[in-house]
Amino acid sequence: MLRAMDFTDTQLHRYARHIILPEVGGIGQETLLRSRVLVVGAGGLGSPLLLYLAAAGVGTLGIVDDDVVDLSNLQRQVIHDGSTLGHPKVDSAAARIAALNPDVRVETHRVRLTRDNAADLIGRYDLVADGSDNFATRFLLNDACFFARRPLVSAAMLRFDGQVSTFKAHLGGANPCYRCLFREPPPRGMVPSCSEGGVLGALAGLVGTLQATEVLKELLGIGESLSGSLLMVDALNAAYQRITVKPDPECPLCGHHPTITDLSIH
Ligand SMILES: [Zn+2]
Repeated sequence: MLRAMDFTDTQLHRYARHIILPEVGGIGQETLLRSRVLVVGAGGLGSPLLLYLAAAGVGTLGIVDDDVVDLSNLQRQVIHDGSTLGHPKVDSAAARIAALNPDVRVETHRVRLTRDNAADLIGRYDLVADGSDNFATRFLLNDACFFARRPLVSAAMLRFDGQVSTFKAHLGGANPCYRCLFREPPPRGMVPSCSEGGVLGALAGLVGTLQATEVLKELLGIGESLSGSLLMVDALNAAYQRITVKPDPECPLCGHHPTITDLSIH
């Protein structure tokens, strides 16, 4: 077991506000520094996620994104700025993280997550945070994290509404998966994307920061997990609602008679 005395003076100074928290302490900070988190998407949700996880000293951050920084991203994607327009988002994010906290090692994956690379990528990390912007990736991550037995902290947003939850169905018990909540992706075109429907920029900060908080709680094993709950944010009415989500015995992934037994359906 490691003690706070294993930190450098600089680290003791940097993480002082964490270490003084009884729920974190030196042991918890050491846990964060040893943790490996994969963030899928370096966009609206990925920006606050990556910034707060890096600031918190999560030791290794993997970033999956195949896109480049566009001017229309800067309304909400605060990890990027005008100097990185046209640059790969993974490189722009990595540079910002390096400037923020040299304790953090960044592993960039400039790819789109597919059924062919998902298992390998996810297997290299302790936990996955989904900051993607489409249903195909959301369902693929749910299934891949279930098979890889990795906790998934998931979030989504559109216009003025957001939602956050944690999925650990591989542990059984009262832990549902995303498919217990939404059986399959909606028909194409039924739910607009943020580029089609718009999104309030600050909502990305709100929802992505809630997501970062849940990631840190899962890594530290503190507080009440969002597994089994869906937290819904209605920014226009400043309303937050937490609803219970139970595992569905008929779920095609984590139910009693699963029909999804590998990633080949994606
Ligand atoms: Zn399920």
